[in-house]
Formats: sequence, C-alpha cells, structure tokens
Amino acid sequence: MRINIDPDGRLNESMKAWRHQFHANPELGFEEHQTAKFIAELLTQWGLEVHQNVGGTGVVGVLKKGKSSRCIALRADMDALPIEEINQFDYRSKTTGCMHACGHDGHMAMLLGAARYLADQVDVNGTVVFIFQPNEENGKGATAMIDDGLLEQHNIDEVYGIHNIPGMPLGAFETRTGIQCASESLFEIRIAARGGHAAMPHKGVDAILVGANIVNALQYIVSRRIDPAQSAVVSVTEFISDGRRNILPGNALLRGDVRAINPQTRQQIEAHMRRIIEGVASTHDVEISFEFESAFIEVINAAVPTKNAVTAARAVSNQVDSDAPIKTFSEDFAHFAANRPGCFMLMGNGLDGSHGQPLHTADYDFNDDALIPGASFWVSLVRQQLN
Ligand SMILES: [Zn+2]
Ligand SMILES: [Zn+2]
Repeated sequence: MRINIDPDGRLNESMKAWRHQFHANPELGFEEHQTAKFIAELLTQWGLEVHQNVGGTGVVGVLKKGKSSRCIALRADMDALPIEEINQFDYRSKTTGCMHACGHDGHMAMLLGAARYLADQVDVNGTVVFIFQPNEENGKGATAMIDDGLLEQHNIDEVYGIHNIPGMPLGAFETRTGIQCASESLFEIRIAARGGHAAMPHKGVDAILVGANIVNALQYIVSRRIDPAQSAVVSVTEFISDGRRNILPGNALLRGDVRAINPQTRQQIEAHMRRIIEGVASTHDVEISFEFESAFIEVINAAVPTKNAVTAARAVSNQVDSDAPIKTFSEDFAHFAANRPGCFMLMGNGLDGSHGQPLHTADYDFNDDALIPGASFWVSLVRQQLN
C-alpha cells in the first residue's frame, strides 16, 4: 500500500469501534435516527459543516479546504436489513429482527475514517461532501436526498460510492465504465374478473385462468422480444386469488420483479408487458390494472470519474480491475450517478467465514480488515481530485 493513512494504528482502532457501534445498533431505512446522530456528532467534533435530516434521516458533512471551487462527493449508506442475526460475536445486533447484513456499518466507518483523516490535512484544495444516505435497501434514500437539493446546494461536480463484496479478496477493487449494476423494477397486475360457480364456469370469468394467460405470455418477452445479448429477467413471484374450493375467483393479484442491464431493455420490457396485459384483458373482457415501478435504475459509471477512481485505487492496491463484469444486483447509488458524473467502486470483503458469506445473509459480517483499504481509497481519491 503506497499511502499510509494510519501510521500509529489509532485510526483503525477508531473505525473498528464505530463499526461495532453501528453493527450492534442497526436501524432500518428512514429510521436511522441514532446512527445519524452519532455520525453528526463526530463530524461536528472534527470541525466539518454538518447538515442533518437531509432526505429524511440523511447526514451531510462538508469539508472546505483552500480556494478551489471544485467539489467531490463521497457516499456511504446507513440502513440495516430486517434479518435476525445469527452471529455470536460480542458486537452482534442488539435489535431483534434487524441487522447490518450488507456491510453499511463498514461503509459508514470507512467514510468517517476518511473524514477524520482529511479534516487535518493541508494538501487538499476544494470541497469534499461526505454523504451518509438513508434507506439504500429500498432504493429510496438517494432520491430523497437529491429531491432535498443536496447536489445543487453544494455544487457537487462528481460523486463516488463504494460497496464491499464478500467472496472477493481483501484489498481488491473493481469497477467498470458504463453499466455496472442491473435495474430492479417491481410490478403489480390486478385482475378484476367475474368469478362464479366452479360447476358453471361459462357463466363467469375465472381470474386464475386470465392470470395464467398473463404469466405464460410474459415468458415470451425475454425469450422472443429482447436481444439475447441484453440479459434480462421477468419473474412473477406472487399469484393470489380470492377463489375457494368450489368458487371460481373473481379477483387475482400478480406481483413480480424485472431485472435489466440497460434502460432501453427495461423500457421495452415494460411496453411489452403493457401490450400483453391489454391483449389478455380484451380477450377475456375483464379489467386489468398494471403498475410498474423501477425502484432501482441501472448504475451507469461515467468514463472520467471511473478513470479517476481506478487511478486512486491503484495508489492503494495492486489488485484493481477496471473492466469488471456487470453485476446483477441493484444499488441506489444509481440515482446519484444519473444526476452527476459518478463511479461506483466495489471492494473485497475477503473469502473466509462470515466475511465470505453472501450479502443479506444472517451470518454475514463486514470485515474490519477492509476498513483501512477502503478509507485509504477515499483519501487517495480526494487528494488526487483536489490537489
Ligand atoms: Zn443490501
Ligand atoms: Zn448494500
């Protein structure tokens, strides 16, 4: 590692303590009150300008150095998940049914570590905006902060984010230019048919049969309407009716999930779905409503920030992949990157034990040994962009 942000090991000890504090006290999206208070107190203590309640429970720390008007934003996420933790270490979650199973505890600690370090540095010229966003897991926090005027208020030029990846070697970094993470859209189809007596189906309209037609027809979208080079997924995940053993249902509700790796494919899928649903409604002469909401749009990394992030990562690691494969998971950082040139960096959480378990599992844990590499990446990026 070519830059050393922690010669005496004290910063690492602080970051570990903050991370364990967050881990033991997880809070769900838009309920991160104690988490936000803890962060705001530290940032204030270090002399940063602090804004609270940005986009709900979001916290923003502003560090102005020198005379340059350049401004870069670094983002961490604050929310935990509704999962009952099964880890037994002493800092395990104290809240029943809630845990930091996506490593946002580590993301906050790394960003705090970078803020702590940079607050004392003199070789930075410009403004760093430290974004602690609420509610990443439901894809709502970034938009809430943007709607609150975050990007304009601080004249942010570029925005960067980071996420740990279990099963990827500790100290390794990866990103790519262009599409990096898939979008996730949720849909709801409500069928209002007529139902009827199970022995006299010709007198009613069976909502299950109508729904089954839709489920089948949706399978043709990916297999026959979307370019095979553009991967996508359309899944019906719920099919609920109000029928009984001897009653044909009059109503059915279908819910599901769509993944796409580019906005055009996502829009094509929505249009095809709408056409299929209209066709089935007219065939059976029933009312069908359709709602399609893209909670997570695709993360699209801009070329220049990606180059910057790769250069900054290479200053702290010799395992940096600048052309990593596209990921099928989704990330709320997408909304920041859609509004400002940005780059989302992925970093290794290690391979062993709870550090190698998939994100969102009850025995996952962020790796404390990733705190220094992550915070060093942030410091390297700021020094490089605001020198
Ligand atoms: Zn997550
Ligand atoms: Zn996450």
